[in-house]
Amino acid sequence: MSEILTVTDLKKVYGKGGSLTRALDGVSLSLEAGEFVGVMGPSGSGKTTLLNCVSTIDRPSAGSIVIDGKELTRLKGKELAKFRRERLGFIFQDCNLLDTLTGFENISLALTIKGEPARSIPGKVNAMAARLGVDGVLSKYPYQMSGGQKQRVAIARALVNRPRVLLLDEPTTGVDAISRSEFWTMLRSLRESGITILVSTSYMDEAVLCEAMALIYNGTIVEKGTPSELTAHLGENLYNASADQMYPLLEAVRKLPGVLNSYTFGATLHLVTDATFDAALAYRLLSESGLENVKLYPAKGNIEDLFIRFCVSDK
Ligand code: ADP
Repeated sequence: MSEILTVTDLKKVYGKGGSLTRALDGVSLSLEAGEFVGVMGPSGSGKTTLLNCVSTIDRPSAGSIVIDGKELTRLKGKELAKFRRERLGFIFQDCNLLDTLTGFENISLALTIKGEPARSIPGKVNAMAARLGVDGVLSKYPYQMSGGQKQRVAIARALVNRPRVLLLDEPTTGVDAISRSEFWTMLRSLRESGITILVSTSYMDEAVLCEAMALIYNGTIVEKGTPSELTAHLGENLYNASADQMYPLLEAVRKLPGVLNSYTFGATLHLVTDATFDAALAYRLLSESGLENVKLYPAKGNIEDLFIRFCVSDK
């Protein structure tokens, strides 16, 4: 496989003088052809700015973006418009469809702009809509569709142009849980066509649905790998603690020697520890502090732990 998308030391600074916001502070990321990568991070971490720069909607302040061998920051005017039309598809959180056109007309428009002969348009629209499961809503206007249906029609419109790279910025924000799950199943199925997908999300449960994920925080990619690679070592210094009295437990674990961080995890607590942590001593101290039914055992980390580890530093 070869790299199709390479972002190198990308920077984007908003504002002037003393009030600068470094929305991207040196992002580097590369995707091989056919990869399906999720960019996950909390609100304000730089996801939209990154997707906007890669989709050429916004210009970076510094750095480079190479897609399919072309340096995007050097493309201008007609050349840039042609590149976007032929190689890229993008889906935003909203405003993807024209309100005054039906689903069919929205998808047709993309083919018309591309210069597709009129006689072949209906067949292509119907085939793509059927593939994405929205053939039943083609005669509807966007306001008559659910959030999930609108996003699928938008993807159908992006895909009829056969882009090499599909960019999606938080496509499931505001979409209900069942539609979100169906949406991800559909996205994964697109990979069979060899398209490269970069999608951002702030839902932690969605990150694990990608082949690989890049964790972004404060405008920097702090980790990238498969979900299992990223969580593999988390359990080495992670413990699960519970007791009948939750709040006193939280207070007590924070005073234990060797605990670097602690946070609620469902009905229990997770403790991030260092090499000095002694589980037997910790169990004794917690039990002697008046807590009842104390349980303390090693935990297996997941994406939520990873997220907290990188994005929340306070004990
Ligand atoms: P995310 O998509 O992860 O929520 P964004 O990329 O939207 O993050 O924002 C990253 C940072 O850049 C935030 O601090 C945000 O307030 C700031 N930002 C985004 N767009 C602008 C803008 N047009 N002008 C000034 N600051 C902006």
